[in-house]
Amino acid sequence: MPTSVKGVFHYHPWLRVVAIEVKKMAELLKSGATMLSETCPECGTPLFRKGKETFCAKCNKPVVIIQTAEDETRLRTDQVLESSEQILLAKIQEINLALKNENDPEKLMAYGNALSSWLGAIEKLRRLRARSPE
Ligand SMILES: [Zn+2]
Repeated sequence: MPTSVKGVFHYHPWLRVVAIEVKKMAELLKSGATMLSETCPECGTPLFRKGKETFCAKCNKPVVIIQTAEDETRLRTDQVLESSEQILLAKIQEINLALKNENDPEKLMAYGNALSSWLGAIEKLRRLRARSPE
């Protein structure tokens, strides 16, 4: 078995990734999606639109194209609301852990109050996000 041909079979993994992307894009086009002139802000590949949704096939996630100042404001608001919710959820998780090991009634009360107000805040955040148009 000659060892000199070993390199022939060793191709760069990047080539494989590209092949998969091209195949995915071809399938998207076949399914009725259109390729846009805009590119993904994260990876630079062309974006696709299918129905109302614009997305990046490579990152596999929706992308919002900002056309007006209003779009931008709405997007910023959504991002702020979403990150607030993430922070609150993380805090709730922390408090759950703390609650488990806490026996001091006063602290338990304080944790309980915090929990209930954070849950209320999350509910409000979700309502606000649901209200923003499609
Ligand atoms: Zn992308």
